[in-house]
Amino acid sequence: MDLPRILVVEDEPRIARLVCDNLEAEGYRVAHAAEGEAALRAAQDGGIDLILLDVMLPGIDGFEICRRLRSGGDRVPILFVTARDLHPDRIEGLMAGGDDYLVKPFQLDELLARVHALLRRAGWTQPVEGRRIEVGRGWVDFERAEAQDATGEVTGITSKELGILRLLVDANGGVVSRSTILDVVWGDEADPTPRTVDNFIVRLRKRFESDPAQPDHLMTVRGIGYRLRAPIST
Ligand code: CA
Repeated sequence: MDLPRILVVEDEPRIARLVCDNLEAEGYRVAHAAEGEAALRAAQDGGIDLILLDVMLPGIDGFEICRRLRSGGDRVPILFVTARDLHPDRIEGLMAGGDDYLVKPFQLDELLARVHALLRRAGWTQPVEGRRIEVGRGWVDFERAEAQDATGEVTGITSKELGILRLLVDANGGVVSRSTILDVVWGDEADPTPRTVDNFIVRLRKRFESDPAQPDHLMTVRGIGYRLRAPIST
């Protein structure tokens, strides 16, 4: 099954980058449009599974984009993400055919939770086996944000840890640099350092390695970054 494709419609470059990077880190395919006409064209071209739709945009506004898609029979889930938080705006958004409404400024984890929920409702839930990826002595489930550690215990896992694992898994055994991890997983957040990444790798080793001091899977590539060695079959 292909990964869900999300269209991010946002004219503020900083927010667009933050949202797009974090959705990509969660494993989604992401397209971006910065003004109304381009957004409508991208949506009408099809292949989109969810739209994050700003309201105040150059050209056609978000409410009108939503109305036009719905009047054309398009059922794609739409999450309004907007600074317009007045009660009548929310009503207008839902009346225009939106599925959910999130007010800026928003917490990233709430945005991601709403994205997951809308896609789940739209039938994007994959069978459990297909969602789990082996890491070291355990596995990670990106959708449920859970991992089984080297001792067999299943616990929750943070979005940062998931973001790092997603990069390592996607690299297919190749090296992922610390700066790539910082760019994609931390983005515009204040003050991460390369040491921040190292500390998260230490946490991941404690989860997935039988001996975190002698890792067999989450390998350091000196002076560059990290790579994930495929699970050794036993
Ligand atoms: Ca805007």
